[in-house]
Amino acid sequence: MKALVFTDVEKIVYQDYDDPKIKKNESIIKVSASGICGSDMHAYHGKDERRIPPLILGHEISGVIYEGSNKGNKVIVNPLISCGKCDYCNRNSEHLCPERSLIGMNRPFVREGGLAEFVSVPNKNLNNLPKELDINKAALTEPTAVSLHAVELGEKNLQLPLDKAKVLIIGGGAIGILCALILQNIKKNLHTTLVEINEKRLNVCKKSLQSQVLNTESDKIKNNSFDFVIDAVGNEKTRQFAIKSTKPGGAIVHVGLTDAGGSFDFRKTTLQEITFIGTYCYTFRDFNQTIKILSESLIGDLNWIQYKDLKNGSEAFKQIHDGTCASPKIILIP
Ligand SMILES: [Zn+2]
Ligand SMILES: [Zn+2]
Repeated sequence: MKALVFTDVEKIVYQDYDDPKIKKNESIIKVSASGICGSDMHAYHGKDERRIPPLILGHEISGVIYEGSNKGNKVIVNPLISCGKCDYCNRNSEHLCPERSLIGMNRPFVREGGLAEFVSVPNKNLNNLPKELDINKAALTEPTAVSLHAVELGEKNLQLPLDKAKVLIIGGGAIGILCALILQNIKKNLHTTLVEINEKRLNVCKKSLQSQVLNTESDKIKNNSFDFVIDAVGNEKTRQFAIKSTKPGGAIVHVGLTDAGGSFDFRKTTLQEITFIGTYCYTFRDFNQTIKILSESLIGDLNWIQYKDLKNGSEAFKQIHDGTCASPKIILIP
């Protein structure tokens, strides 16, 4: 098959690759659409210890069963693989399963990703595509589930109802814009501000959102003025920005993970009872809820997605890397 292979730091090559072999309780999916995630970009930058070259990246996948028990079925892949037996799995927190793994990673073991013509997926991770949902748009299910989980985790930790809360989203990538759409369309929050540093992307967010969209440097962002801050970037600077902007008693949800370390204002966190929450992935319940959200078009027409051919994927990685890509999400089509 043809695949987009991560061969070295900042190197992605469209090349021939071994076809996946069918395993017990798995199916081979002919990929219809596969998104490039922020975490794939971390790998590209050599900053992800769970994604080491050579590897096929990509875990935001829709496609058709090519080999397996339900051949021909159109499916959405849930890339989160959990054991199904531990305490976390039993209490619907599959994302915290100690044995969790993700498609498109090769640590602790190899699981080739979806930026290819074919990918092997456990049958329990396949969800039928509802007929109302476009198969290419369905590749957005995974990041939308991440965003839904992040918004609802914050909601549970707020001291006021979410529709009354002043919300700040840092970063207008896919997670940022999806959180904003969930807040405005599903949670009926009309007090959301999204900040983005890249002017091109900022303009796309402006066109696609009713929420206020500002440059990160804008002097309209005052200290201590948001009940709920979502950091969808996750570096030292954005974490400091988040803590500065949060009101006493407010909550920060940290969903981006660009840099793991750095200083943080623990003094304010303590003296003003700020709740800081890290979040990763989603539960299976979130994933199913997201399929419903997308099939009912509850977060709009998704015209901000940019589709490109898989064979031009290397160029797409470069454009995201150097900031010349305006769209918050690129989905590749084999
Ligand atoms: Zn992702
Ligand atoms: Zn488990």
